[in-house]
Amino acid sequence: MGVALFTLGGTISMAGHTPGGEGAVSRLNGADLTAAVPGLARLGMPLDIHDIEAVPSANLTFAHILDLVDSASQAVKAGACGVVVTQGTDTLEETAFLVDLVWPHAEPFVLTGAMRNPTLAGPDGPANLLAAARTAASPAARGLGALVVFNDEIHAARWVRKTHSTSTATFASPNTGPIGHVIEGHTRILTAPVRLRAPYPRPEALDNTRVALHTVTLDEDVDTVAAVADARHGLVIAGFGVGHVPGRLADLLGTLAERMPVVLTSRTGSGSVLRHTYGAIGSEADLQRRGLINGGLLDPYKARILLRLLLAGGADREAVTAAFAEHG
Ligand code: ASP
Repeated sequence: MGVALFTLGGTISMAGHTPGGEGAVSRLNGADLTAAVPGLARLGMPLDIHDIEAVPSANLTFAHILDLVDSASQAVKAGACGVVVTQGTDTLEETAFLVDLVWPHAEPFVLTGAMRNPTLAGPDGPANLLAAARTAASPAARGLGALVVFNDEIHAARWVRKTHSTSTATFASPNTGPIGHVIEGHTRILTAPVRLRAPYPRPEALDNTRVALHTVTLDEDVDTVAAVADARHGLVIAGFGVGHVPGRLADLLGTLAERMPVVLTSRTGSGSVLRHTYGAIGSEADLQRRGLINGGLLDPYKARILLRLLLAGGADREAVTAAFAEHG
């Protein structure tokens, strides 16, 4: 039994250049990527390569990722012991969480990429790919859902963030730390993430479900938020600190919450929004009283992934509230 490798582009495969020569573009396929990894052949584990599409990860969509999950599912049903996906790092924290919510198998689903492209000194792609393949093949990684393996660290998709624009140590899990490491070629899981509920089915109505994310900023005006929410089916608010907005937004958010789910998260990057510590207009307690849903420890990007998946699957307000109580 081998590992199924799916390639989706990103810096890890960017060894080509635009015609003018000034910008890197994806050129390497799975065969090129694996050929560049010293030690992969010695793993004694065949990699079954599927080149999907070479796109910057900014261009990926929910549909791309759900199609990928379907293909990966087929590979597992055909006998693969695990899955590795290479993609751009820019959206990897979101795609990994989407996969985690829908992946129905015990076999590890590992996502990785690179921060330095193969034409630079010290590219990190080969090491990341090797560590990802080892983790995907490891019995220790079974049952942990989607994982991000990067810089010899293993992160649970639920908690991982891209925290730096250029560092090769960009992936971190600020709330928990990595759940494991790859050490001298061995996958060491130190702590298993809590796996929640059954995987969600593929939703019917993705195209017709629009969910916006708005980050609240100093001296925010009401019209901007109203415009963002216009014609949307759901809204995630990234509030200040523990879940606060300027008091002048409170009425609007309460009105919006009457017609669609509005989820309250924190723009800080880690920690939870609170429930009942502050009571001023625009505080977390006030906003919940007005019908906003508490996003808990889910960061704004992950909250938006969950909300769109739920709404596209036809979830009503009660189901959305219950899901955020569980995942937040
Ligand atoms: N722009 C690239 C992407 O996300 C960045 C990367 O792969 O690190 O596709």
